[in-house]
Amino acid sequence: MAAGAILRAFSKRPPRFHTTSISRSVSTLVLAEHENGLIKAQSVSAVEAAKSLNNENSVSMLLAGSGPSLKEAAKHAASCHPSISQVLVADSDKFSYPIAELWAKLVHMIQQRDGYSHIISTSGSFGKNTLPRAAALLDVSPITDVIEISGSNQFVRPIYAGNALCTVRYTGANPCMLTIRATSFPVPHVSADSRSNEAPISQVDLSTLGEDAIGKSRYVKHTSQDAERPDLGSARVVVTGGRGLKSAENFKMIEKLAEKLGAAVGATRAAVDAGFVPNDLQVGQTGKIVAPELYIAFGVSGAIQHLAGMRDSKVIVAVNKDSDAPIFQVADYGLVGDLFEVIPELLEKLPEKK
Ligand SMILES: Cc1cc2nc3c(=O)[nH]c(=O)nc-3n(C[C@H](O)[C@H](O)[C@H](O)COP(=O)(O)OP(=O)(O)OC[C@H]3O[C@@H](n4cnc5c(N)ncnc54)[C@H](O)[C@@H]3O)c2cc1C
Repeated sequence: MAAGAILRAFSKRPPRFHTTSISRSVSTLVLAEHENGLIKAQSVSAVEAAKSLNNENSVSMLLAGSGPSLKEAAKHAASCHPSISQVLVADSDKFSYPIAELWAKLVHMIQQRDGYSHIISTSGSFGKNTLPRAAALLDVSPITDVIEISGSNQFVRPIYAGNALCTVRYTGANPCMLTIRATSFPVPHVSADSRSNEAPISQVDLSTLGEDAIGKSRYVKHTSQDAERPDLGSARVVVTGGRGLKSAENFKMIEKLAEKLGAAVGATRAAVDAGFVPNDLQVGQTGKIVAPELYIAFGVSGAIQHLAGMRDSKVIVAVNKDSDAPIFQVADYGLVGDLFEVIPELLEKLPEKK
């Protein structure tokens, strides 16, 4: 538990506190990720979270990188959410790849200069890597995995693999640093015409970020899975396979089905540990947190660590041959059946994706 954070209570349902709101001015720095000239949807959710801190919050979005895609991303950042009041751009070859140590020093430097009351990032691998390092440099305790914000210093986060919710009040010094679960802060759709304001873009002066700032980490290479498929963290439909698939060869049925549905592929830790698929497909407490519109699970028992990563999905469909499998307790639609019969039938009946 964070030293500057006091555990107030925990229960399945967050208690309602009647607190007198502490009036202090709120200014937030959002650490943003971008790809192919666009701000990632998760980072826009971080701005949505920042909005919940205070109505008069002034939100700055920080992005780093180099080259034309950074310029494109900065333009996108300026108009991607109406609450953004400025975009800060750290443009240097050093930031061509997101190295956490360097990012942490950048955040430290900007915080020393601008003194934000809050710093927010998402709970993905970028945020989990960067924010705690920056918090250590700033000597504050971060609050991680926030799913609800009630005021500028009170937050709800899951504990015990999501089986209980804990309400935490931050009592430490500024900045209050948070990682948020993007799936808990969906961004309402804003039509392109109604986005009238473009936030100003300014360059961060990197002259004080010394040559040694990069530390001992070096970028080696980036490997990514099938770029054709939707990103697991933000896909509208996810098809997941568990140990019930029995082999990597059989798991290909899940991939074919996902292809037909235009879905992302997920897996349980048991399927990953058995070598059916790489671990970046793992959904759960120690994998990715997803909340798609439709989550279809085949041969997944529904262990709490798996549910922690998908229970917020809008519609859950489960196929399992064991009628007592715990996955059926969270499923909206359950089919007790053999996946080796159900998946081929689905593959046969579903039309090819256009
Ligand atoms: C600290 C910690 C962190 C963890 N983190 C994660 C995590 O992030 N994600 C995660 O998933 N797990 C995680 N786990 C592991 C978790 O506890 C379970 O072991 C795992 O989720 C089980 O995966 P499974 O459902 O694929 O396998 P099993 O529990 O073995 O279930 C397989 C299911 O397939 C069904 N089945 C078998 N054959 C068929 C068939 N022919 N047709 C239909 N159904 C069939 C069976 O009835 C069974 O219900 C974690 C565990 C720990 C201790």
